[in-house]
Amino acid sequence: MEFEKKKVVILGGGYAGLMTAVTLQKKVHPSRIEIVLVNKNDYHYFTTKVHEMGAGTVTPEAIKLPIRELIDPDRVTFIQDEVTGIDLERREITCQHHTLHYDFIVFGIGGTPKTFSIPGLDEHAFFLFDWEGSYRLREHIEDQFLEYSQQPLGQLNIVIGGTGFTGMEFIHELNDRIPIFCKLYGVNREEVHIIVIESNQHILQGYPEAIVMDAVNSLKKMDCEYICGTPVERVEKAVVILQDGTKIETKTFIWAGGIKGHPLLAEHGFDLLDGRVKLNEYCEVPGYPDVYVLGDASVSFNERGEPYPPTAQIAIQQGQYCAYNIGMKIYGQPAKPFHYIYRGMVMSLGNRNASGLVYDHHVNGRFGSFMKWVIEMRYYFMLGGLSLVRKEWKQR
Ligand SMILES: Cc1cc2nc3c(=O)[nH]c(=O)nc-3n(C[C@H](O)[C@H](O)[C@H](O)COP(=O)(O)OP(=O)(O)OC[C@H]3O[C@@H](n4cnc5c(N)ncnc54)[C@H](O)[C@@H]3O)c2cc1C
Repeated sequence: MEFEKKKVVILGGGYAGLMTAVTLQKKVHPSRIEIVLVNKNDYHYFTTKVHEMGAGTVTPEAIKLPIRELIDPDRVTFIQDEVTGIDLERREITCQHHTLHYDFIVFGIGGTPKTFSIPGLDEHAFFLFDWEGSYRLREHIEDQFLEYSQQPLGQLNIVIGGTGFTGMEFIHELNDRIPIFCKLYGVNREEVHIIVIESNQHILQGYPEAIVMDAVNSLKKMDCEYICGTPVERVEKAVVILQDGTKIETKTFIWAGGIKGHPLLAEHGFDLLDGRVKLNEYCEVPGYPDVYVLGDASVSFNERGEPYPPTAQIAIQQGQYCAYNIGMKIYGQPAKPFHYIYRGMVMSLGNRNASGLVYDHHVNGRFGSFMKWVIEMRYYFMLGGLSLVRKEWKQR
């Protein structure tokens, strides 16, 4: 029997998009579906590790994998291109070098950094957000050490804005890395200052108390200054100005103030929260049963109506669910709603320390670090089976 083949176009090869592609290629018969994956780079990177690369504790290559090695090329057509526009009426996707049409479209394009319209932030700050940005930061930090070793004027200030998960993980990686740079470039550790700025009264606002306490204790052991309750007013070349008038001289201001939705999704009249598309219980955009928005580009809510934070954990589950949902539509079956299984969170606090909750059990220290690694390996396994786990194991 001949079936009409449906074309699924997945935009973005991050956690959500890639997981949709690898699940679809396994679960839906090739006679029923054509799968196209579009991503602006030819690699998938581990966003959850960009802070390590940015601080220089892992190599740039260690946190990325070629997309073509992760998909089955007989099942998924990979197009390296940047999506520039979508016409939902005509079911048309415009990229820089291609125009594509679809039956189902899956947005897995992630978000963009939230800058709160702070003047000068876009121009003068570094963002811990994607591979390219983290690479630029990594090179810049090393350049700063080199420059300072040749012209040791004042002190070498590295300033971080935002003490959520990302900011905290980065500060600790940096603290691990600084002694190595100091030795390499002959700089005294006392001349390097890490300054952390937080607009809330406390670090890690909204996080479970056990994690906050571990992070506070860890920060106390580090040589770093933190300023809480004082938002950033504006950023100028080589200076960060706070709302209370404090001026901090720095050529390295790293912004880790959270994320908002992707600009590509802003123009379609979708219901948005902070630029992120609100979904129905099938991960579809309400009113558009053939349009899915997953991961950081979207927002879904728990039973109490509170938004889930943007995490790789939810992006992965949504990717798997979306593939299942599309499969059910193709086979003419009713799909069950998406049910997010929260397994906890683990935040790294440097190379040998982490803090988190695993199914509500508090983990910390070396064991926490081990659990963080187990979570990463689980993702590798889901993505590329045992061979990918083995590859990563050898790299360690
Ligand atoms: C430092 C850090 C640590 C984190 N740690 C954790 C953690 O421990 N646990 C956890 O669960 N979450 C963590 N997160 C959050 C997690 O990384 C994100 O929630 C997750 O990456 C979201 O996945 P995504 O697929 O929606 O987007 P992304 O992973 O950002 O992928 C989006 C993809 O779309 C591509 N793209 C974007 N625009 C276009 C375009 N116009 N055309 C073509 N392609 C495009 C991008 O290149 C990218 O490949 C962390 C985040 C950071 C920054």
